[in-house]
Amino acid sequence: MSKVIYLTDQRAAAAAGDAAPAGTAVLPPAGTAVLPPAGQPALDTRARPLRDLRISVTDRCNFRCTYCMPRDAFDSNHVFLPHAQLLSFEEMARAAAVFVRLGVRKIRLTGGEPLLRKNIETLVGLLAALRTPEGDPLELTLTTNGSLLARKARALKEAGLTRVTVSMDALDPAMFARMSDTDFPVADVLRGIDAAAQAGLAPVKVNMVVRRGVNDDQILPMAAHFRGSGHILRFIEYMDVGSTNGWNMAEVLPSADVIARIGERFPLTPLHTDPMGRVAQRWAYADGAGEIGVISSVTQAFCEGCTRARLSPEGRLFLCLFASRGHDLRALIRGGADDDQLAAAVAGIWAGRGDNYSERRLADTPGAPRDPKVEMSYIGG
Ligand code: SAM
Ligand code: SF4
Ligand code: SF4
Repeated sequence: MSKVIYLTDQRAAAAAGDAAPAGTAVLPPAGTAVLPPAGQPALDTRARPLRDLRISVTDRCNFRCTYCMPRDAFDSNHVFLPHAQLLSFEEMARAAAVFVRLGVRKIRLTGGEPLLRKNIETLVGLLAALRTPEGDPLELTLTTNGSLLARKARALKEAGLTRVTVSMDALDPAMFARMSDTDFPVADVLRGIDAAAQAGLAPVKVNMVVRRGVNDDQILPMAAHFRGSGHILRFIEYMDVGSTNGWNMAEVLPSADVIARIGERFPLTPLHTDPMGRVAQRWAYADGAGEIGVISSVTQAFCEGCTRARLSPEGRLFLCLFASRGHDLRALIRGGADDDQLAAAVAGIWAGRGDNYSERRLADTPGAPRDPKVEMSYIGG
């Protein structure tokens, strides 16, 4: 007997408290879906294995970064997801265990601001207890704006977190305030980074989104500050995620230019990067003062090696950062599907994945109609 489960993206309706389904899909009857052979990861249409899972635990944030949650779009009228719509920690951990069975070896918690979710260390503890089929623990990381990190670092480490990534777009306090549109002091983010390293969540990665003509004068000060600190600074090309940030190509500073600017002052040598699952290209300071990375999703698409699935705060599975729709796993989880059925549904969804937005970005007809892309503050980086 097959079971009818709602599988469309009902985010807007759910956020407005309207449970009316916009469409249906059928849960595969037990035993009919293609699960990967034991010990093999699920593969998509381009033979990309399912290896990474990003779980967005909340769509809320205490910052209003201009490139992510511009204040005019995310003001007091914006409807955030009600708590009852969010997956519980137990539901997230159950879903995560299914993904691990299908090949996932690395989980990143994100948001919104993940440290705003109360008792997040409880979720970290549940995920840290998961084991791969070979009996190994997972790599378990978290991306944060750093505002609550000084307070939380030790508890996160004790709960089993492996590492953290902290977003920080400028060293200069005025530019930091302008990029994050908050009055939270950059000095406190720096304290959070140090607290994380001291707690053993090292090496700490620091992500800087670069907007040409806005904060690109911070590239060298940031590089100079983090050189030799043991933290790994990574420069991210400003991306056209979502539909609220008014992105335009003129504000993208290609990573090649970032490397050229830093290399002029501090000579760099390229490090080997594994193409599968790769996000950042790594460079080492020639004088041994550590490494930096660049994430070039606009100028050098890395879809070919993209092994990431994304779970939204209310349990929708997205196959790409630039997707418009997710697959409603919460309906399966709360509808009584057992783990085998859940695994079959996820494997089936992954098997149909052909997403490659970054390879097509510049070829797509500008202005051609398309559904709005999911927001970064909802699905996470
Ligand atoms: N709030 C946390 C933080 O800022 O680290 C986690 C969520 S945030 C959406 C994850 C990452 O996405 C951050 O490093 C942020 O800088 C990055 N990001 C958000 N919008 C972006 C954009 N338009 N282009 C490039 N990176 C972006
Ligand atoms: Fe919040 Fe992170 Fe988005 Fe900034 S990038 S608004 S900190 S979710
Ligand atoms: Fe992966 Fe989509 Fe980014 Fe390509 S555009 S690397 S498929 S998330």
